[in-house]
Amino acid sequence: MDTGLDTGLDTSGWSFDTLAVRAGQERSQFGEHSEALYLTSSFVFENAAQAAARFSGAEPGNVYARFTNPTVTTMQERLAALEGAEGCVATASGMAAILSTVMALMKSGEHIVASRSIFGATQQLFGNILPRFGVDTSFVDQGTVEAFRAALRPTTKLVFIETPSNPLTEVFDIAALAGVAHAGGALLVVDNCFCTPALQRPLQLGADLVIHSGTKYLDGQGRVLGGAVCGAQVLTEEVFKFLRTAGPTLSPFNAWVILKGLETLSVRMQAQSANALQLAQWLEAQPRVARVYYPGLASHPQHALAMRQQTSGGAIVSFEVKGDREAAWRVVDNCRLLSITANLGDTKTTITHPASTTHGRISPEARAASGIGEGLLRIAVGLESQADLQADLARGLR
Ligand SMILES: *Cc1c(COP(=O)(O)O)cnc(C)c1O
Repeated sequence: MDTGLDTGLDTSGWSFDTLAVRAGQERSQFGEHSEALYLTSSFVFENAAQAAARFSGAEPGNVYARFTNPTVTTMQERLAALEGAEGCVATASGMAAILSTVMALMKSGEHIVASRSIFGATQQLFGNILPRFGVDTSFVDQGTVEAFRAALRPTTKLVFIETPSNPLTEVFDIAALAGVAHAGGALLVVDNCFCTPALQRPLQLGADLVIHSGTKYLDGQGRVLGGAVCGAQVLTEEVFKFLRTAGPTLSPFNAWVILKGLETLSVRMQAQSANALQLAQWLEAQPRVARVYYPGLASHPQHALAMRQQTSGGAIVSFEVKGDREAAWRVVDNCRLLSITANLGDTKTTITHPASTTHGRISPEARAASGIGEGLLRIAVGLESQADLQADLARGLR
């Protein structure tokens, strides 16, 4: 993973906002101000001896873009700086980041403890695909530390959480669960998609690895797929070894888009969170709304914990409409501004009915266990004006 390229910058004293626009940048002979996009799948050697040295790893440097590419390296270094991580490995998608982590660090006969309320595809991977390779997962229904401790086995290798969770914005105590995982000889992996390092830094709270879907807030404008794994070098190095052989590497173009997205991450997250808080407060006052799930609201059961480990509530707001699926679909179908799409983390606000889309393939029993009802809607709040968002939702709630 070490390409031998020195950024030439002393980033040690820089704050988050400076790192977001500067970390990892390397200028070529042309002196470009913005980061270059290196669309090349392979790299040229000066002579046969250098080719041999690069291949053996004796000399650091780029060889082939399935292994490393300078644009991808810059993105990795920047995201690592933001997460406060020693190492970062970029992947083709968020799911590729999760799969690569499991494939790199686990073997048949080992076990995962995961919170029940995780991304639908992650549930599918853990529940239906990994068991074919001898890796079983226990899903924990309750978010309590005791429930996680009780689910641990001697073979447990990973404790996997997503906080706040999707779509119910359940908040998990990262520091406490790191303690539980470590006491049981396991690693704590945190999917940090919803907060991003702009609002939450799990490694500082004791987590071992952070997972990202770069597709969401890191890009932030709904353009590309991407993912990343951040953490201690000894762990990310293993993920890299799997990736360079198995191939779910991030394309340089997507890395470049995400890299430029990171430059505005902090301002976007702050603005979208502020917009989300206002919308959550407005939704709470609507008579047709039974319940609002948003960690930034005082009514959220884990509001205090959320405010301890996050700098704001984030930009995802879920709410239950009175009257089940029909009433929920009426809100969706009356939206003219909000996009009806399963994606999130965009500057454009999106609305989803989880029970019939993102969580539709999960059995009704499992869905009920996760608390995802037929009246539930999830909004990923973007940057449109508050008045326009409220007007759009008010139509379907009348
Ligand atoms: C979208 C998402 C993923 C998967 O990311 P992809 O880039 O779509 O593969 C994982 N976790 C969470 C929380 C997500 O929202």
